[in-house]
Amino acid sequence: MRIRVIGAAGGEVTGSAYLVQTKRANILVDCGKFQGGRAAEAKNRPPGRPNAKLDAVVLSHAHLDHTGRLPLLLRLGFTGPVYATSATVDMTALILRDSARLQAQDAKRQNKKRARTGVAAREPLYTPRDAEAIIGRLTHAPYQRPLPIAPGVQALIAEAGHMLGSGSILLLVDEDGQQKRVVFSGDLGPKGVPILRDFEGFQHADLVFLESTYGDRDHRPFRETAEEFIGVVKEAIERRGKILIPTFAVGRAQLLTGLLSWMFRNEGVRRFPIFLDSPMAIEATKIYARHLELFDEDMLRYIRQKPLREDLKTLTATVTPEESRRINDCPGPCLVMAGAGMCNAGRILHHLKQNLWKPETHVVFVGYQGRGSLGRRLVEGAKSVNIFGEKVVVRAQMHTLNGFSAHAGQKDLLNWLGIIAPSRPRVVVIHGEDGPRTTLAGLIRERYGLPSVLPKQGDVIEV
Ligand code: ZN
Repeated sequence: MRIRVIGAAGGEVTGSAYLVQTKRANILVDCGKFQGGRAAEAKNRPPGRPNAKLDAVVLSHAHLDHTGRLPLLLRLGFTGPVYATSATVDMTALILRDSARLQAQDAKRQNKKRARTGVAAREPLYTPRDAEAIIGRLTHAPYQRPLPIAPGVQALIAEAGHMLGSGSILLLVDEDGQQKRVVFSGDLGPKGVPILRDFEGFQHADLVFLESTYGDRDHRPFRETAEEFIGVVKEAIERRGKILIPTFAVGRAQLLTGLLSWMFRNEGVRRFPIFLDSPMAIEATKIYARHLELFDEDMLRYIRQKPLREDLKTLTATVTPEESRRINDCPGPCLVMAGAGMCNAGRILHHLKQNLWKPETHVVFVGYQGRGSLGRRLVEGAKSVNIFGEKVVVRAQMHTLNGFSAHAGQKDLLNWLGIIAPSRPRVVVIHGEDGPRTTLAGLIRERYGLPSVLPKQGDVIEV
């Protein structure tokens, strides 16, 4: 058996895709998009040769860097199933539809510019129709049950605790009268974070692909971060300010909504207006509500005690742009959650433009702010910024909270590997920048005495 590394390697964290080739079958594990600037986007080619036989795809979770190249498989003549847990099926449909829509919008805008300068128009990477075609191939795979996915290959998915529906994947491969076990961690979540269950891990493997996003550090504990968040909200309420939270639509928005409910129920905070100003976050929240079976015990007990909506009577989900604009008229205190998470697009820009110049405004960053993004400039203390071509003075207070990550820190990554380490697998460290992945590889040798490989894109690993 050979496994070709097609992305999230060589110090990169996006474009996850691994082609597993046996004598009888070809399987793709994840089919992610390369993200982060033009050079990365240029690498988004179909993962394979036209008409190369591909039996099936298995997905670890729905994030775009693990699913965003799926529609390109159609160009290779792929007609097989794409296996995923049922929540991942729902989330992938939501995320691919949004991605196709944004790409169509983006191509339209760029082609207008191109037409003016006499340059030929550019096709989007894929269209909403391509996305629908691949969404039609998504096939439900249950957790913890071996599922035959191709001749001689079974897949088993275990909880990864990273996002709703996320899983680590075990492939059981029968070849020449022998069974080999290959495990892909997928993205792993931190332990002990509300709503999601903790990761489960596996006992035995011949080969393990382990993510290393935060292989060089641990996050601040969730509880401390939650307390800091509640502190900021209380202060803003006292000053009757607006709280703006640039947030990713899936995961973070639901976690914060849960925290706000907790604050009203258990912290004695009087209800005030909250806006979930993101059609995609609203859809993602509906998917959460359809998958209560994936919630952890504490969360289930909490919602059985009283439904969240009773705490969140002052929460308004704003779908249309008109509803979104009306938030301007709401006096403080109020809280607005809107995308994009790094403030480089989306409705959050309008709210920032209207409120950054007011000293009573609080902006709370709950996720990573990439270099070059507006969010990064604000976090770094810019005195003024440009939004929609207008200069806006920054007088608002900025807060950066580092403990709401959806990724496991170093300690949890090593704990996950610790479950499988006694079976003496070879380890392939993927999905990490150079610092984190080399640090983690060193610790894996030190702690478990296991050799590890740091592949680059295109490398082939023999089992
Ligand atoms: Zn992810």
